[in-house]
Amino acid sequence: MKKPRNSSRRRAIARFAAPWFLSAFGFLSGLPNVASAGAAPCPTDALGVSRVLRLGARGGVDVGLKTYPQTLALADHEVVLTFDDGPASGTTQKVLAALAAECVKATFFLIGRNAQALPALVRREIADGHSVGHHTFSHPAATMRGLSETAAKMDIDKGFAADDKAAYGASGSEPRTPFFRYPGFADTPQLNAWLASRGIAVFGADLWASDWLPMTPQAELDLILSRLDQTRGGILLMHDIKAQTAAMLPDLLRALKQRGFHIVHIVPGDEPPPLRQAPPGWSSETEKINTEILGRRTHKRDGAAAKGAMGAPASQKTAP
Ligand SMILES: [Zn+2]
Repeated sequence: MKKPRNSSRRRAIARFAAPWFLSAFGFLSGLPNVASAGAAPCPTDALGVSRVLRLGARGGVDVGLKTYPQTLALADHEVVLTFDDGPASGTTQKVLAALAAECVKATFFLIGRNAQALPALVRREIADGHSVGHHTFSHPAATMRGLSETAAKMDIDKGFAADDKAAYGASGSEPRTPFFRYPGFADTPQLNAWLASRGIAVFGADLWASDWLPMTPQAELDLILSRLDQTRGGILLMHDIKAQTAAMLPDLLRALKQRGFHIVHIVPGDEPPPLRQAPPGWSSETEKINTEILGRRTHKRDGAAAKGAMGAPASQKTAP
């Protein structure tokens, strides 16, 4: 399958908007089924982790060129693997097995209610050495922009607590791993300032798999590799709740190895990370989609209904 084209308005909506209203139901995908992957030794030609990047966010850090005019200052051909919306029974285990087979570490941005439903999978992510970040509790279809500021903060905090309770058995006033990604990349200045004041890093992405679109694992693999050829690495967004992603991940990791890409594992740290500024002429792709196509332009005032900014839940507007 060829890379989807950007020229179609409908296509753009489908490419971008589908994940958060579909993935909100990921928590229904099944009961816990956490078979241990075992601790097989790494093959000598495993992809592995080339370096660990300790990332502090005191005062705020926003990264990912799809949304922000800066990103992590990765070297050429360095990739940060990230997976959103999990855990989900079945697919997350396959993703973890694929990562373990190549001795690769990733970052999972969890939906709190999924973590609450499947805590054993979260604990396995921790045990396998991955970073566990946060992606709200309920992943509302209208995104954080469709909630009042108070409701948005409550959903984010509830997500932190649910994720940490699942991961560590208890939660504190602040998340153990201060990494956060907005559903639909739909941030607000108020929420960004609030997260920054707490030293919580906000992750966008530099490229994505478009795995909310149905496609064969081979097509998804080809798409990711073609995008990596263009970006020469970066923060890659995938979804561990997607069967096609779980199916293609072993081949992707092999291909990354063969093509000379290196994996960077991000973990909490004390110092702000080195950043790379966007090239001249940059604009936010996600902001364009959120504001011009989906109408998620402004934050609802406290007490307003949890609807999309154009008056209807975003999921209704973006459904085929
Ligand atoms: Zn999501």
